[in-house]
Amino acid sequence: MANKTYDVAIIGCGSSGIAAGIELLSQSNLNFIILEARNRVGGRAYTDQHSLNFPFDLGAEWIHEYDSNNSLYSFHEQFQTDLNDDCYIQLFDPTRILCYDSDGSIISQEVSSLAQITTNRLFTQFKSNDTNEDASVYDAIQPEYNRLEEGQHKRLVKAMIVAVEEIFAADLYQLSAKQYLNNPNWSIEVESKNNLVVKHGLGYFLERITNHFQLSVLFNTVVTEIDTLSHADIVQISTSQNQKISAKYVIITVPLGCLKQDTIIFQPRLPQWKLDAVDQLGFGHTDKIIMQFDKTFWNEEATILYLVDASFPFALCNPAKCILSFMIGGRRAQKMEDEKNEITIAQIMKHLKQTFTQQEFKLEHYIISRWTQDEFARGSYSYFTMNSSVETMELLAKECSENRLFWAGEHTSDGASVHTAFAIGTREAKKILNYHSMKT
Ligand SMILES: Cc1cc2nc3c(=O)[nH]c(=O)nc-3n(C[C@H](O)[C@H](O)[C@H](O)COP(=O)(O)OP(=O)(O)OC[C@H]3O[C@@H](n4cnc5c(N)ncnc54)[C@H](O)[C@@H]3O)c2cc1C
Repeated sequence: MANKTYDVAIIGCGSSGIAAGIELLSQSNLNFIILEARNRVGGRAYTDQHSLNFPFDLGAEWIHEYDSNNSLYSFHEQFQTDLNDDCYIQLFDPTRILCYDSDGSIISQEVSSLAQITTNRLFTQFKSNDTNEDASVYDAIQPEYNRLEEGQHKRLVKAMIVAVEEIFAADLYQLSAKQYLNNPNWSIEVESKNNLVVKHGLGYFLERITNHFQLSVLFNTVVTEIDTLSHADIVQISTSQNQKISAKYVIITVPLGCLKQDTIIFQPRLPQWKLDAVDQLGFGHTDKIIMQFDKTFWNEEATILYLVDASFPFALCNPAKCILSFMIGGRRAQKMEDEKNEITIAQIMKHLKQTFTQQEFKLEHYIISRWTQDEFARGSYSYFTMNSSVETMELLAKECSENRLFWAGEHTSDGASVHTAFAIGTREAKKILNYHSMKT
């Protein structure tokens, strides 16, 4: 490796890096290497195969918007033979949402459906005014929320709003109303549809794709510096183990959280427009607290559980595995990450015991993610702040340093998901192939 100059070096072997590698492999004879800091592929799509007696996804779990236009569709179809127990879930199916009040009483289907309708309405009622000024989602929905009559319905709406903050990975006051409210691409109904659950794990699915194509990945390779200054045509990459790797083009797929915290030094400094874009787009926090019990003590038909007034009011249910996955976003996730596991678990258990008073149940195992403290993620995924828009993402995606540095990763296009990150990786590899063919 010491004296070799690669045509392309891809930094990061998450969804975007894998897709870029596949595109280069199948469409060119350019030689490339993927440099990955971890000892595994998949990045924020990680299937833990060991901690419980079945695989589960600690990060990304569903292929959203799964249909023939999805960038992962053909790969999934190809591998389906032994993944044929994959299934769809409709995340917010109103008939399968189970809501409990703080005194342990079940909230009627009528009240819970009404609360869901109210929550959906809150998130669609913003109209940007003539001056086209933005506001935070919090400011935009607060007047309407405040007008709701005090009582069970309003408290349940509040729990549902916590779930929305988990989906966005940010608090409502951080989110741009212009980008999220009245946006045909985003609503709770849209979020709910066509989510494919890959039973053996989404992280494992990416691992299978990588193995199938035999992509060359250098694991445990933490890139620390990218130098486009010292040589005219070559980019020099340094790693934490003092390796020097040279390439003509580099695709950078590291998470926006890493870029914000300057985990890689660029020589020379990146252009100001790129740094501004890094600064302006939000990078959120979301975590999972996966709890496995000795039995299922909730209604087995439920897909979602809301616990009104609880610190962790929103959980996904997996009755077959006796699992509740509590999910939390924004400041709540950051706070949880700073707490000891025992404190978090005790809080949730206390609320469950108060709610399910008639039931005897025991917690057998738990796992808690900490994506913000993960040094190669530094958060969960991107969101639109009031200072950002799709144009900000376009700047994040724009090549620089005389077309030697190319940019991928979920934050360089709208979507914040595994399949959009995958499509972006393909996009950047195609850009390099185009540019390279014009040059040669
Ligand atoms: C809790 C959680 C739940 C989610 N749920 C879903 C879901 O259900 N469905 C969905 O579609 N999406 C979901 N997402 C979002 C999804 O995980 C991401 O959008 C997607 O995985 C991003 O892929 P990527 O390739 O852009 O980045 P990553 O997957 O983060 O890949 C970047 C890679 O760069 C590596 N890296 C970082 N720094 C360096 C360095 N200095 N040197 C070398 N390598 C480095 C990292 O180790 C990583 O492997 C979820 C995310 C989280 C955190």
